[in-house]
Amino acid sequence: MAFIDNILDTPSYGWKDENGELVKPTPKQLWAEAFRRINVFRDKRNWITMTSWLMATLMVPFVIAFFFFHFSWPMLALAVLYTFVMISSHGTIWFHRYCTHKAYKFSHPIFRIITQNLAIKTFPEEIYVLSHHVHHVKSDMPGDPYNPKGGWLYCMLSDVNHQSINKNLSESDYKRAAFFMQHTGVWINSYEQYKKWGSVASPVYTIGLWLLNWGFWYGALYLIGGHSLACAIFSAAVIWFVGVRAFNYTGHGKGEEKHVHGLDFDRSNLSLNQSRPGLFAGEWHNNHHLYPGSARAGFLPGQLDIPWIYIYCLHKIGAVTSFHDSKKDFIRRYVEAQKVKEPVRETIVEPQRLQQVG
Ligand SMILES: [Zn+2]
Ligand SMILES: [Zn+2]
Repeated sequence: MAFIDNILDTPSYGWKDENGELVKPTPKQLWAEAFRRINVFRDKRNWITMTSWLMATLMVPFVIAFFFFHFSWPMLALAVLYTFVMISSHGTIWFHRYCTHKAYKFSHPIFRIITQNLAIKTFPEEIYVLSHHVHHVKSDMPGDPYNPKGGWLYCMLSDVNHQSINKNLSESDYKRAAFFMQHTGVWINSYEQYKKWGSVASPVYTIGLWLLNWGFWYGALYLIGGHSLACAIFSAAVIWFVGVRAFNYTGHGKGEEKHVHGLDFDRSNLSLNQSRPGLFAGEWHNNHHLYPGSARAGFLPGQLDIPWIYIYCLHKIGAVTSFHDSKKDFIRRYVEAQKVKEPVRETIVEPQRLQQVG
């Protein structure tokens, strides 16, 4: 079995049936799988999947505290800004472009650690990174962890149901999987530790960083704007946690072909360049599928890319040493080529049509 087919823990309902078609589990199957996968009493190696949901659950008290005790309209406006722009852009900068695609390099670990913690932590890196590599190889096909053809709930529960590492990898396959995480600064388990904990990331690191991150952010926000600001921003983080799962569904056309001529150039998968995730978080997802390793994804006029602005500014101050930027290649291969090809196609089609008529 190819490494990429084996890297993720196969859900109990499987990825595909005997005919190679996608298995579409029922909502009941999906929920049962989710609770099986976060059950640390059944298998302690579920700890990392459980952590993802525990983080979200522990944010709920902040939501209650904000709406019932500390509510104000300006704070709500800030929370909306934080959800749609700040933490979303951070997701693109950190989890997506750096951790998964290595689109740029930091000059010193301190800039990496600052970037990592620029937003409230909502899930461990490993949950995102390993499965996202699979998403690129198998987009919209069986095995894609957030295959939109599986439906909305299939994508919403994918972080626990489809995104954890296979717990039975050979030592060489584990090392290959761990290599995907090596540059992130996450403490990586040895093969023996992986056999015990079922994860690439060390539990001590993951839990320790989570507590430090939340401690820092609650303290800093409290000093700036009291409990009201702190609870508003923590509430915003949990809304993003839910929303980013929905993006995995809508960003691939909800499982349907919705490409727009002159906007979505990659037709090998269902990914779309959508305005809201694009303008607010630099997720021009169709462009990204064409150039996954690019630190910039906003290529066409009007495609604002806030994460790219951040990365470019870090480069200007010397915190980022190098980056990939595929804009020129995109323009040459897709935009300019289209201008040239159109008239050529006309001249080819015309004589055939005349022949048919004749
Ligand atoms: Zn995608
Ligand atoms: Zn990607």
